Amino acid sequence: GDAFLSVRDLYVRFATEDGVVKAVDGLSFDLERGRTLGIVGESGSGKSVTNLAVLGLHDPRNTEIRGEIVLDGQELTGAPERALEKLRGNKMAMIFQDSLTALSPYYTVGRQIAEPYRKHTGASKREAWGRAVEMLEKVGIPNAKLRVRDYPHQFSGGMRQRAMIAMALVCDPDLLIADEPTTALDVTVQAQILDLLKDLQQEFGSAIILITHDLGVVANTADDLLVMYAGRAVERGTVREVLRAPQHPYTWGLLGSMPRLNSAVDEPLSPIPGAPPSLLSPPPGCPFHPRCAHTQEVDGGRCATERPSLPYGRGAACHLAADRKRTIFIEQIKPR
Ligand code: SF4
Ligand code: MG
Repeated sequence: GDAFLSVRDLYVRFATEDGVVKAVDGLSFDLERGRTLGIVGESGSGKSVTNLAVLGLHDPRNTEIRGEIVLDGQELTGAPERALEKLRGNKMAMIFQDSLTALSPYYTVGRQIAEPYRKHTGASKREAWGRAVEMLEKVGIPNAKLRVRDYPHQFSGGMRQRAMIAMALVCDPDLLIADEPTTALDVTVQAQILDLLKDLQQEFGSAIILITHDLGVVANTADDLLVMYAGRAVERGTVREVLRAPQHPYTWGLLGSMPRLNSAVDEPLSPIPGAPPSLLSPPPGCPFHPRCAHTQEVDGGRCATERPSLPYGRGAACHLAADRKRTIFIEQIKPR
């Protein structure tokens, strides 16, 4: 179909003093309007890099980007900076983990919501200020009419995150990218912010990309899920499909290191042994093979030599036979 955002064979490489970092290595996905795609992986998996590429925020002096990024029919790779600038904050907007870096300490919260609105819509100062108040109300800031004059440091962490969401949504963007939007917050506030995002999506109909290292964050918020490892997508499906019957050993590891919300005792977490590979020289074959406990079950040492491909719909990039993926998960990994 005609996806609203379509990414095809994306490669992102950085030139560094130590060599070329293969940060994203052949990634494809689609996103429809009104849906939320969760992109999950450890740091260095390529999830943030991918989205900075969508936003056109990489430095062309040290970054090579290949592949296609098409947003609402418009090709973004290689688009001139001026065209991207017009899209950012307007057609696509971003929410970052740390509201203190996104909000300037020197301007009132109201001004920081009103200014981009004026810039992109040509509204008057008065109209834009009214819009800032309205947006703060929408994101649940009490006494918005008064608080709109506050500086960011006068807000709590959770309120700043709400203000940043107001800032991101003020121009009614079609695509919202939220990169670890709740990581810095405590669990209760985290849940409130995720609920808020869901509600606002209903109202604004935006497509959302939710980037996180935490499967728990996407479980209740996203529709579709892409699991990334070492610059590649290793599993995709709806959130339901992936969480109920994950097929990739890396996803099993992520699930195993997730705290159980309803467990009475503090079960020890079982983090995945080993560390992600260096992206300066990623391992041949399956990028997960140095950490994988199941390589013996694949014939001919293929894990170390042959790169598994990811099916386009539901599936995982893994050489294990389909019925083995099922039984290993059910018998050995599934939480009791
Ligand atoms: Fe493990 Fe092999 Fe599957 Fe990679 S392809 S996840 S190494 S079993
Ligand atoms: Mg990141």
